[in-house]
Amino acid sequence: MMKPVYGNNISVDELNEINNYILVTMDEPWELLKPHVINDPSKIILNRSMDIAHLEQLYSSLKKTIEESYSIIGIGGGTSCDTAKYLSWRFKKDMGMDLDLILMPSIISVDAFLCSSIAVRSDNKVNYIGESTPKKIIIDYNLIQKAPKYLNRAGVSDTISITSALGDWKLAHSENNEPFDQKIFAQAITIAKDLMNARNEIKDVTRRGIKALVDGFVREVALCSQWGNARPEEGSEHFLAYCIESITHSHYIHGQIIGMDILISLYLQDDLAQFSIEEIRKFFHDIELNISPNSLSISSDILRSALKKIQTYVKKENLMYSIYNSPRLELNTPKIEETIRFITKI
Ligand SMILES: [Zn+2]
Repeated sequence: MMKPVYGNNISVDELNEINNYILVTMDEPWELLKPHVINDPSKIILNRSMDIAHLEQLYSSLKKTIEESYSIIGIGGGTSCDTAKYLSWRFKKDMGMDLDLILMPSIISVDAFLCSSIAVRSDNKVNYIGESTPKKIIIDYNLIQKAPKYLNRAGVSDTISITSALGDWKLAHSENNEPFDQKIFAQAITIAKDLMNARNEIKDVTRRGIKALVDGFVREVALCSQWGNARPEEGSEHFLAYCIESITHSHYIHGQIIGMDILISLYLQDDLAQFSIEEIRKFFHDIELNISPNSLSISSDILRSALKKIQTYVKKENLMYSIYNSPRLELNTPKIEETIRFITKI
């Protein structure tokens, strides 16, 4: 896997050295970089939508002007990086063009800049299509530190989701005969613990904090690719988030909703949870990431609908076996109300 390059102001240096490039970004990071860039992009794409129809339109509009010498640069959060990945994949697939892809996250809120799979949306649902591998991943501390702190802190959740995903894995192994590997399992625990040990640096979004977040992502993505799927990192916490999104059609800060759902998963996994609720609750508290339903504007009614729907939802969507498939969990009305009381008091 591609190892990121770290440094101060290295995003500007890179842009000034590139030939022709198409820049996929957002207003905020581009406003910061623009005054220092003397080598202007051939085209700037400010994209906020990962809807597949919209991406296709973008691709078609670029098709006429693109040349083999162009690079595609993604600077921003998940949307900018995934859009850049999508375009590079599309140009390769349809036109056989191998354009250099360079990703520079301006915020460490999701692991999109490291994953080769491309997350797009159709009918409000996330689908993964295609793969593209960046030639370079650039971690510019100065740029990332200019983003709101809480968004960078929210980047912990796709790694810390290991803490609930591992309980699901154990369940899937014992109840559903799924393969299990003690070594991979132990490595996942170490990744989560290392992240928790960096909590003060993460809270302050220092250079070491950013490095810890990126390292967590790098190790988690490598571990999942070694194992062959996202089992060590993704489970019921993600599934409940998808279920809530399918009800509200809202876009939440991924780290916040996953954070809330990790605690719900640990609560429902009960004695099979691999981490204690208190340990994870304290971690979110210490890094000052608010994961309460209130902070997400998720009402008890929405939680109630989601918890009523989740067990059929995971089967209908063919999601991996988790606590929501387990006969151990009887998600009846009292249990749902108890869970809502638990999470609203967090
Ligand atoms: Zn995620």
